[in-house]
Amino acid sequence: MTADEKLIAIYESLLACYGELHWWPAKTPFEVIVGAVLTQNTAWGNVEKALANFNGDLSPEMIAKTETTELAEIIRPAGFFNQKAIYVKAVTEWFSRYGYDVSAVRKEPLRKIRTELLATKGVGHETADSILLYAFGFPTFVVDAYTVRLCGRYPIAAGKGYEAIKAYFEEHLPPSAEIYNDFHALIVANAKRHCRKKPICIGCPLEPRCEKVGVGSTDLS
Ligand code: SF4
Repeated sequence: MTADEKLIAIYESLLACYGELHWWPAKTPFEVIVGAVLTQNTAWGNVEKALANFNGDLSPEMIAKTETTELAEIIRPAGFFNQKAIYVKAVTEWFSRYGYDVSAVRKEPLRKIRTELLATKGVGHETADSILLYAFGFPTFVVDAYTVRLCGRYPIAAGKGYEAIKAYFEEHLPPSAEIYNDFHALIVANAKRHCRKKPICIGCPLEPRCEKVGVGSTDLS
């Protein structure tokens, strides 16, 4: 089986099990941007609580005119709120270069926007790619800790480090935002249900082909 076939087989097995997950759960692209910052080092449930504190008033204009200290109080449930308030302000300022216009961003080359986001305070690789893919629909693969875990266990010879793993998935999958979107969400869903720190391999849709590298025999029940 080639690397392309292997990745597609994993994708199709996960898709057959979980269906399309329509990630990211947000009402607007800007909510994706803010959520991508807030989700750093915290569970998604805390992000939802922080987003709910905006009472439906979340917009780039609102963030721009809100004092950082006030913003920190609003997003407090997401943890690291003082830092994250600065980051949300910074990414909003970046967005202002494009008049807060999603279509204006989408007209630009992916590489340019990715470079700009990575130069923005508080935006690392995973946050940048989440924003690019889920807010703007750019075909860029998001790598997270769950992806790294799957690569190690299955195994998938994607190499080490964020950029290497991202490049591997992009090289061996069609350049499709739709597939990248679904695939990332499916990996997360499977990691939560089966490929946990202590994996529950029985019933995992990848179990028939997974070599379970590093998984102890006591982990399999
Ligand atoms: S079979 Fe086990 S180790 Fe392999 S992906 Fe599934 S849960 Fe993870």
